[in-house]
Amino acid sequence: MTTGGKLRSSKQRDRILELLRATDEHPTAAWIYDQLKAEFPRLSLGNVYRNLHILVEQGAIEKIEGGSTFDRYEAVGTPHCHLVCESCDAIVDLELPMSAVEELTERLNENGPYRATRARLEFYGLCESCVAEEQD
Ligand SMILES: [Zn+2]
Ligand SMILES: [Zn+2]
Repeated sequence: MTTGGKLRSSKQRDRILELLRATDEHPTAAWIYDQLKAEFPRLSLGNVYRNLHILVEQGAIEKIEGGSTFDRYEAVGTPHCHLVCESCDAIVDLELPMSAVEELTERLNENGPYRATRARLEFYGLCESCVAEEQD
């Protein structure tokens, strides 16, 4: 256990970023911890949260606020919309054109008094496999 907030070597942080870049599952901190605990026996869930926070601050990853459930994380890449499955909690990347979102952002800024710098559009419903299950 470390106290005083001294940052551990960034090895763990590098691995967290690597993991997030390699998955499109939008994992939770607990999932990341599970993946890395064998590799870093002294890793704690608290370390993972701290490193995730730093990566968010650095702009390398994004936090998807979980509301009543756990926050999820993803590496920053091409802007995209999400579908959040209300049955299995999957978050799916959508290949929708972002022009509609950009247009809305522009319109908002044009008319003032706000200055939005980014927007996120999330759809809620059922993911592909949950739809398939329902049809069985
Ligand atoms: Zn689902
Ligand atoms: Zn995504």
